[in-house]
This record gives sequence, structure tokens and C-alpha cells, in this order.
Amino acid sequence: MTAVFDGHNDTLTRDDADDFVTGRKGGHIDLPRARSGGLAGGIFAAFTPTPGYTGTIKGQSGGAYEIALAPPVDHEIAVEKVDVTLDRLDALEREGHVRVVRSIADLDVARDDGVLAAVAHIEGAEAVDPGLEELDALYARGLRSLGLVWSRANAFAHGVPFAFPASPDIGPGLTREGAALVRRCAELGVAVDLSHLNEAGFWDVAKLDAAPLIASHSAVHALAPSSRNLTDAQIDAIGASGGLVGIVFAVGFTRADGKDDRDTPLSTIVAHARHVADRIGAEHVALGSDFDGATMPAALGDVACLPRLLDALRADFSEADVDGIAWGNWRRVLAAAWRG
Ligand code: ZN
Repeated sequence: MTAVFDGHNDTLTRDDADDFVTGRKGGHIDLPRARSGGLAGGIFAAFTPTPGYTGTIKGQSGGAYEIALAPPVDHEIAVEKVDVTLDRLDALEREGHVRVVRSIADLDVARDDGVLAAVAHIEGAEAVDPGLEELDALYARGLRSLGLVWSRANAFAHGVPFAFPASPDIGPGLTREGAALVRRCAELGVAVDLSHLNEAGFWDVAKLDAAPLIASHSAVHALAPSSRNLTDAQIDAIGASGGLVGIVFAVGFTRADGKDDRDTPLSTIVAHARHVADRIGAEHVALGSDFDGATMPAALGDVACLPRLLDALRADFSEADVDGIAWGNWRRVLAAAWRG
């Protein structure tokens, strides 16, 4: 079975995350289903929802919609939530169910041992203080990937509101603290994730030229004009930096009509992979499901269905390309971001 490294899931922030080992009743990822689908590694997000925010749709006509930006979340609330998720990862590692990987050597050993490799990630940097004094402690606890923002503003940057059709060019760029955070992550060896970031912030990060540009769970704006997706110019910059796009599986970001409709063929995901590959090369294409965070196509109901997606990719890509998309491209880019 082809081993898969997946660039984004929200599994360990779910209320039933304690059933991860034995099997959750619903959701997309748990250990038994990860095994049966070939998921051998992934980036596990700690995500802090804005309290009380439901994402009410502000305007909708035809297929178009605009959802009000979530209000900022307090540092203390984010610290608490991130603690819970990192504690869950620690416990899973202690019991031998996952390996929290801190280096590429860890990733390779975990794969060889057949232990699920987990990269600790925060989706939105609210748990980091603006002075960056707490970043080293998070690094020591295993943090190796950091999304500057979720779809809201924080001390570092501005996320895009969910909107369709809409440009990602909404709002100002990085703050001074945001630029310092990107530089410090590059020094430490923490991958910086640009999914959810607005376009001005993206270009500010690109200008810093600190590390490969990574969008862990995004799709192609030219095929699905969601505010969450990458323009061709952004995709080109990702390629030039040696980075990657983790193609998101979420139907709302891959469908040309933006609808949250499970009746979406896997060829839709493949088309996004193909578009990125044609522009910047298949070595910059990877996977970033958003399992346990979004609506999946019916044929990809959970992580156990990953082989179906790989088969769909094989209809359009060589076996070597599929191997890179499934594992090797994430490995190479994380090695660059982590400096080994
Ligand atoms: Zn996300």
C-alpha cells in the first residue's frame, strides 16, 4: 500500500479525540482507519475556535456567499486549547501509538517502524505571544509547523474571510510581529504554513525569503474562486521558493461552483493537482486533506478511502509523481524548512 503523508487534519481538536486509538464513531481519522488507508504521517493541527463564532453566512445569492470574519481569539484561550492538543499527542506517543516527529530522521524512522508520524502544528499563531517569548517552549514541546492565521486576524497577520467567489486579496499584510515570527520560525526550523493567510500577507512572507513557501491545505483559485485558494501568481511563487501546495480535499474549496456538496468526483481534486503540476511541477504538489475540518467528497468519506484518491491520481500522473505527491514532496519540503 502506498504510504501517505497528509498535510492537514483537525482530528485531535475534536471532542471525541480520546477515541483516536480505539476508533471514533464518526469523523474522518482515527488509528484503525489510518492504518487501513495507508496514512503513515501527517500534520496534526491544534485549532482554537473563536468562542461563540458560528460562521453565519452574511450574504448568499446563486452559489455566492460571504461569511463574516471570525473575531480574534484571546492568547490565553489559544494557549489552553493548544496545551490540550499537545498533551493528547504526548499521551499517544507515550503509549506508542504515534511518533511526534521533530526531525526528518524521526519521520523516516517512524515510517520504517510502521508507527504513525505526527507533526505538531498550530493553525493560527494566537498561542504565541507577540514578543515570541513562548515560541521556544512550544518548539521544545515538539511544534514543527505553524499556520500564521486561521480565517481571522491576530497579532501577526490577517486571515481571509470565507467568501465565494472572492479574491484572497483582502486586508493588510503581515504586522511587524508577523515578520519577526516568520524569521524566527525559519531560524528554529518550524515550517510556516500560509493556508488561510490573505494575499498581502502571503507576498510579505514571500519577500522575506526565509524558507520554502508552504500552503498545507489550499486549492487553485483559477479552478475554484474561493478566497481560501491560491492565485496562479501565488502558485508560481511557491514553486520558485521550492515549496509546495497541499491540495485540500474539501469540496467547498475544490468545486467550481463553491458548493458544500459531497456529490463531487475525486477527479475534481486531481484537476487541482494537475493545474499546480502543470504550472510549477509535480514535485511541488502534495496532499492536505482537511480531514475532520471540512466536508469531504462522498468517495473520500474518511481516511480509509485514501487508496481511492491515489488511484484517481494514477489516472493522470506517473507512479513516480504519485509517490512524490503522497509522501516524498512533503518530506523534501519539511526537510528544507526544518533544516534536517
Ligand atoms: Zn484550515
